[in-house]
Amino acid sequence: MNDAGPQWMVETRDLTRIYGDGEQIFALNGVNLMVSPGELVTVMGPSGSGKSTLLNMIGALDRPTRGQVFVDGKNLAAIKNYDDFRGRTIGFVFQLHNLLPTLTARENIEVPMQGYAGRAERKRRSEELMVLVGLQDRMHHLPNQLSGGQRQRVAVARALANNPPLVLADEPTGSLDTTAGGELMDLLHQINQSQGTTFLVVTHDISVARQTNRVVVMCDGKILREDLIGSAFEEDLKMWRFSQLGQKIVSGSEEDLDLISVDTDQLETLRQFLKKAESVGSV
Ligand code: ADP
Repeated sequence: MNDAGPQWMVETRDLTRIYGDGEQIFALNGVNLMVSPGELVTVMGPSGSGKSTLLNMIGALDRPTRGQVFVDGKNLAAIKNYDDFRGRTIGFVFQLHNLLPTLTARENIEVPMQGYAGRAERKRRSEELMVLVGLQDRMHHLPNQLSGGQRQRVAVARALANNPPLVLADEPTGSLDTTAGGELMDLLHQINQSQGTTFLVVTHDISVARQTNRVVVMCDGKILREDLIGSAFEEDLKMWRFSQLGQKIVSGSEEDLDLISVDTDQLETLRQFLKKAESVGSV
């Protein structure tokens, strides 16, 4: 492996998981998924479409019936110590925060660091993470003294404890109201940008999915489609691109130039922008 790291943070090849002895259920059926380092990807799909099974496979919590999973360049089938691999490489966030009720928020973050860092380092890192998730004034609160959104923030901080390159989140906003859910997604974005952590987020909420750059839609154990989603600005531009004026600008007709007060350079920039926006897919 070179210094540039693996090409894919996650790669699945023909990933298949069959349940049942008699009637077979294809929870996953030949899934090929590639996630680049630093991406924030959401996985959507109806209940029973295989989202959780996919996350479990990538998180080395379950084994495929057929196919392969590579995480951070490593073939999961060849790993000797799964606990150690998960501890260092993958952070998990679940719908229910699963915080230990008798430990403070900061102490909960320290739990995954046991065995990986000394006491002083655990304290330093857990404090740093409480700041990162905006809860520096809640260090010593117990989980039941925090709001649902705050508890989920602690769960995110706990997932980041050992600075894993990948975080898997299964319906992380599922138990939150819209506002708290939106704030949690903002936090994941912010961490994705500032720490470069790769996120794979399962959700059934389209508004959550629209906040990410790429959406993978699953159905019956297969990837139905994958879409790149632009920023709200790009989405607006894309709409505008198909308006009469947008079409004229892209097609390069100069006759309507006077309709918008821009000079030639600005017009060219706008044209390039509209073309770029057009190439970004939508849900
Ligand atoms: P989703 O997360 O999209 O709701 P799942 O991955 O949980 O879907 O499930 C995919 C399919 O596999 C469903 O039909 C489900 O009933 C089945 N399934 C999941 N886990 C098991 C299991 N442990 N035993 C048998 N069937 C299972």
